Amino acid sequence: MRTLVYSAHGFDRPFLENLGLGKHDLIFSEELLSVRTAHLAVGFQAVSLFTSDNASAEVIQLLHKHGVKYICLRAVGHDNVDLVQAKELGMRVANVPAYSPNAIAEHAVALIMALNRKILLGQQQMKLNDFRLDNLVGFDLFNKTVGVVGTGKIGAAFTRIMHGFGCRILAYDVAPDKQLIEKYQTEYTSLDYLFKHADVVSVNCPLNSNTKHLFNKASFSQMKKGVIFINTARGGIVNTHDLLEALDEGIVSAAGLDVYEFEKPIFFFDHTESQLDDPLFEKLRAHSRVLLTGHQAFLTNEALHGIAKTTMDNLDQWSQTGSSVNEVF
Ligand code: NAD
Repeated sequence: MRTLVYSAHGFDRPFLENLGLGKHDLIFSEELLSVRTAHLAVGFQAVSLFTSDNASAEVIQLLHKHGVKYICLRAVGHDNVDLVQAKELGMRVANVPAYSPNAIAEHAVALIMALNRKILLGQQQMKLNDFRLDNLVGFDLFNKTVGVVGTGKIGAAFTRIMHGFGCRILAYDVAPDKQLIEKYQTEYTSLDYLFKHADVVSVNCPLNSNTKHLFNKASFSQMKKGVIFINTARGGIVNTHDLLEALDEGIVSAAGLDVYEFEKPIFFFDHTESQLDDPLFEKLRAHSRVLLTGHQAFLTNEALHGIAKTTMDNLDQWSQTGSSVNEVF
């Protein structure tokens, strides 16, 4: 199938080439999909998109006009695609429902460990010949309470790991997972209860109309003082202003974030030669108790192979039958 791969990066292109070239006519572009770049898809049956691409209703209309029938996402989340518009125009949209949930869950754990045990500060002091320990005190995770918001594939992998640390697991999900209750004694609770009791809160739900700014002034104000807050899901689930306020008020002792509300024009690109025009982002990354990574939680060989494999499976199925098992509607 003739496919334009938007937002092709050095980290994922080799995996896609390895599995797809020879089977599909893949053309790679580093361009982000937008109103400005939709015309590049003229003559392609399919486009492959990444989380940074913008498939708004207007862009979908343009893709449809240019003859694109299939949209395959190299991601789990599809909050960047106007599914209503795509459906209305009879276009097919498939995602990669699972690749390696462990990659993201393990990254969340890395953020917790680095923040709690002050690993970055310790390294900075080490380089300065400052071997005092006074600023580096953390706490045992053993016997602490971890709140997991969203216990799908990633939340479940995260639960398994934190259970292994000896943590009590509180969870909130619109569809509780019985297996997590049986295997890891997970206690499904209300959000209020989870906020009140968790020493660590991890966000693992999708971004949608119900979860947009789920974490805001009101929710942070309910949290246990000193909580470590982790978000590896989507930036828009958290009101960044309110998080910064909660950090300054000492409610949140530290925040580990792999995603940022307004990350689209920033993450995945080299901005070393340019100024970023985002004071909120500057404030967030300058904060001494924020550890920020640039949407890299998924970045393992296993996950990249999984993403490429399912992307090619989607193209295979569309070429052969016109439909794919991974379609999102
Ligand atoms: P999943 O679909 O397996 O699980 C999502 C869970 O969230 C489900 O159990 C669902 O019931 C629950 N949920 C839905 N609405 C909710 C709500 N209002 N409140 C609480 N729970 C709710 O998805 P997943 O594979 O576990 O991925 C979760 C999210 O992680 C994705 O949607 C994506 O945004 C994000 N993600 C981030 C990265 C990264 O690199 N940082 C990589 C992959 C996925």
